Amino acid sequence: MADPSCIFCKIAAGEMKAEVVYEDDRVVAFRDIAPKAPLHVLVVPREHIETIGHTQDESLAGHVVITAASIAKREGYGDSGFRLVANSGRDAGMGVAHLHFHVLAGRALSWPPG
Ligand code: AMP
Repeated sequence: MADPSCIFCKIAAGEMKAEVVYEDDRVVAFRDIAPKAPLHVLVVPREHIETIGHTQDESLAGHVVITAASIAKREGYGDSGFRLVANSGRDAGMGVAHLHFHVLAGRALSWPPG
């Protein structure tokens, strides 16, 4: 169920280098190559799912979100706060078409996003 042209599938399979901070049988989390905040981690399912709008798997979607929040807390941002973002599709500026949640923390994040 991996897409051979997908870079996040390659990272999840260990075929492309990344700074992995957490992994289990369903998800992999790694540091964003171009961080937008002191903490910027991406949490992706191992399975190739294009966007959060392309799955009905509540267990997996929940696991991705809980993992993302756990990483923010583990990295010390449980009290100061963090943001989870899942860009989905062209108008949201999605650049890699493999479901991922950004975990952003470590600075005041403006709202609304652009
Ligand atoms: P999005 O624009 O929401 O699709 O986010 C894609 C994110 O993936 C961007 O923040 C990129 O900096 C990040 N990214 C792209 N390639 C890599 C890579 N090889 N390793 C880690 N992060 C990456």
